[in-house]
Amino acid sequence: LVSRKRQERNTVVALGDVEIGGVKPVMIAGPCSVESYEQVREVAAHLKASGITVMRGGAFKPRTSPYDFQGLGIEGLRILKEVADEFGLKTISEIVDPAHIELACEYIDVIQIGARNMQNFELLKAAGDVRKPILLKRGLAATIDEFLHAAEYIVSRGNTQVMLIERGIRTYEKATRNTLDISAVPILKQESHLPVLVDVTHSTGRKDILAPCAKAALAAGADGVMVEVHPNPATALSDAAQQLDFSEFTIFYDDVLRSGLMK
Ligand code: PEP
Ligand code: MN
Repeated sequence: LVSRKRQERNTVVALGDVEIGGVKPVMIAGPCSVESYEQVREVAAHLKASGITVMRGGAFKPRTSPYDFQGLGIEGLRILKEVADEFGLKTISEIVDPAHIELACEYIDVIQIGARNMQNFELLKAAGDVRKPILLKRGLAATIDEFLHAAEYIVSRGNTQVMLIERGIRTYEKATRNTLDISAVPILKQESHLPVLVDVTHSTGRKDILAPCAKAALAAGADGVMVEVHPNPATALSDAAQQLDFSEFTIFYDDVLRSGLMK
């Protein structure tokens, strides 16, 4: 069902009047984790002023270590909703438990399924049973074929609003956190009609190459880019090293806009 052979026309995911997979690429930004109401509100105010319409923020955090910050859970989703309503933003947040999928629909506009859960089939089925846009991340070491089959799990249960996001894969290369597989973008666009995005933050783990990687993604045909932004990255409870502060975000976004690739 996700194959271009089954459907020639691109799937467009509409979040209010924001269209993903339509004519204009979208920039999605926001903190790695929802840490507090004040933190999310500060980010939302800056994003709104920059013309960003879709904000991300993790409430359920899949952390490598059980001793690291695990996220605010449902309370984090409540914060996202309250702030998004105030600023008129659309929101994306990761859900890790099938039991939370329906509840999440009340709080957020897009349910993210994280890289670690790309083949959590019960979670994929639960995501397929609701009628809410899903942002499906490529698994840590998933092939494109496995990625598309994971999307098929969701779409085959009737939820056609699925977006794919390349977030880097594991290779031997240590210069970046993961290896951004830029070729996945044109391949996914050719093989599937679903929107394709690129998460430049998790794929590179490096602030100094975000802009060129975002431009490469857009030049390769991506329908959008996702990037992490935090009011004070040094104090962030997750991914402190790779989130942009507000002035870094402004420089990054201006650079990408100046390329003309977001039109
Ligand atoms: C995230 O986007 O918050 C995240 C945890 O990313 P990934 O699942 O790609 O590691
Ligand atoms: Mn992160």
